[in-house]
Amino acid sequence: MADTGRSAQVVGWFGRTLDRHIADSPDGVRRALLAGFALKRWQTRHLPSKGLLPSGQMAARLSLEHIVGALEHPDEMVVTSIFLPTEPFLAMGLRPVTAEALSQFVSGAWAEDGFARAAEDAGVPDTFCSYHRVLLGTAESGVMSAPPMVASCSVACDANNLTFSALQRIWGCSRSYVDVPYEPTPEACRYVAGQLRSCAKQAEETFGRALDEDLLREMCARSRETLEVARHSLAGRARRWLDNDMTTELYFALAEHLMLGTPEAHELYRTLDEEQASMRAFGGTSLLWVHMPPYHLVPFQQMLNESDDVQIACCDMGYDLVPFDGGWWFGDGDPWLSMAERLVRCSFNGPATRRVAQARELARLTGADAAVVFCHWGCKQTMGAAQLMREALEADGLPVLVIDGDGCMRSGCSAGQMSTRLTAFLEMVRTRSGREMGGIG
Ligand code: SF4
Repeated sequence: MADTGRSAQVVGWFGRTLDRHIADSPDGVRRALLAGFALKRWQTRHLPSKGLLPSGQMAARLSLEHIVGALEHPDEMVVTSIFLPTEPFLAMGLRPVTAEALSQFVSGAWAEDGFARAAEDAGVPDTFCSYHRVLLGTAESGVMSAPPMVASCSVACDANNLTFSALQRIWGCSRSYVDVPYEPTPEACRYVAGQLRSCAKQAEETFGRALDEDLLREMCARSRETLEVARHSLAGRARRWLDNDMTTELYFALAEHLMLGTPEAHELYRTLDEEQASMRAFGGTSLLWVHMPPYHLVPFQQMLNESDDVQIACCDMGYDLVPFDGGWWFGDGDPWLSMAERLVRCSFNGPATRRVAQARELARLTGADAAVVFCHWGCKQTMGAAQLMREALEADGLPVLVIDGDGCMRSGCSAGQMSTRLTAFLEMVRTRSGREMGGIG
């Protein structure tokens, strides 16, 4: 607990210092941020957190390698929305990063307030999703170097559409957009496959690189294998002590979206799947977490990261591409159809009932005792789904806490109120299950 407080003080000072210089020294702030991220990457390479299992350490290292590598090579960077398949960019040796990853990293350096303000000063409303507000602030302030290309899809929200057209205007870069029909049908997959081809073509022209279709096919086949391993790993989580934390779950969400198709992502999920057999039994409270956890909230860190009695069994943002409703429609011979099918059938595409169905399945497979639906400020998707989610999960016998906050901005959370609610909820779950404290068997 003391360590959490001390490191928060140091990073908080760093972030506040950067905050003061966003307007007068954007280049200096960029260099300082990069130096901080590079230091964190060094730590994940050489001094991985001893409190994490090998898969957790690997997820942290891969995420840092991926995002920091992209920021160090802006000329090879493509800023994408989180659900857009990235295999074509990866197969061209490019570096895709998502709005969520960039904003989380900025927030990890406690520098999110200044960038949100920069976006608001440029006319972005403070009701706009903070992942996008912070990203827009990094672009408006000139702190983030302009990438040659941005690419997004209509899943899962309108924020993406607005943000990416604004980014194109600010950065003067190339932009590609993929429209994804709500209705999951084979025709929709063909329609999306054609757009993914055009997006890749645009990347070839923008970066002057040729796409190796054989490599792409190999990567897309590996993506499916990886998702299969991820699906298999879920059942292994039931009643096992996972030794994870909120940040680990975020890293897994990044791996699933940004690195799918790479040998590293496959190895990550294989490690996760295999290590579960040797995990200790767990008799405490396992939570299904819906949406991004507010990893930055110190009271939540104390309750979820540092507790032996409560853990996150699974976060739905890391398993939205895993198909539970039967096998794939298309074989993996055509990489474009393979990626398109994954996108069309993603649980975040279309009506909230699909995300609810996915959450129920995740809770069942991981043996979750309760669910927390985290309504991120500005995310109409999650807020709209929250009550449906509550009704469905409660009907399955799971206590549900719907809680408002901000996954990216500390100032968007009333920490005291939120921790009081989570404490009371966990106490209620514990009492209901007749368990005492101390969950590891
Ligand atoms: S948090 Fe919600 S509003 Fe923000 S990008 Fe994600 S889906 Fe869109």
